[in-house]
Amino acid sequence: MNLAAAIRTVPDFPEPGIQFKDITPLLADAALYAETVRQLAAPWQGEGVTHVLAMESRGFWFGGALAAALDAGFIPVRKPGKLPLPGPREAYALEYGEDALELPADVLPTDARVLVHDDVIATGGTAGAACRLVHRVGATVVGVSFVMELAFLDGRSQLPAGTHVEALQVEG
Ligand code: AMP
Repeated sequence: MNLAAAIRTVPDFPEPGIQFKDITPLLADAALYAETVRQLAAPWQGEGVTHVLAMESRGFWFGGALAAALDAGFIPVRKPGKLPLPGPREAYALEYGEDALELPADVLPTDARVLVHDDVIATGGTAGAACRLVHRVGATVVGVSFVMELAFLDGRSQLPAGTHVEALQVEG
């Protein structure tokens, strides 16, 4: 199945110069959605993942399904002001702008083995902040998973050294 054909590149969104990867056609196709979840889960079967942690908001699109496929719990990390009971916060730089992520308070145990997931890794700021949140509670990052990696932006450099990274589609 051709996942790449279901990812649209939208020029100059949300700002001039950004080539935005729109995965909504992939979400809308039942067979492609199921296949994407299967491919996202495959590298992590047997790795003892206890929780999938995904970032607001596009990380949620596959994050919950990925957690179910791995028999893991699901942890949503959110933008400031969204969680009624926020835990640790980490700031990060985006390909366009700046933001921060918060972990819900008291839901991620210190012995958790966490798979971090987002739809796209660009500059890596978001995924780096998510890994720092996991470490803030003393839990372990088993790996980091993306539908698409924009490799020319070298986002992996923002992740802890030696992090296991998997991306279904790599551009650049
Ligand atoms: P970054 O922190 O630069 O790695 O940006 C990753 C986050 O921003 C992810 O949550 C993506 O959904 C989003 N993002 C950044 N750049 C793009 C892009 N070119 N296309 C689609 N999503 C992007």
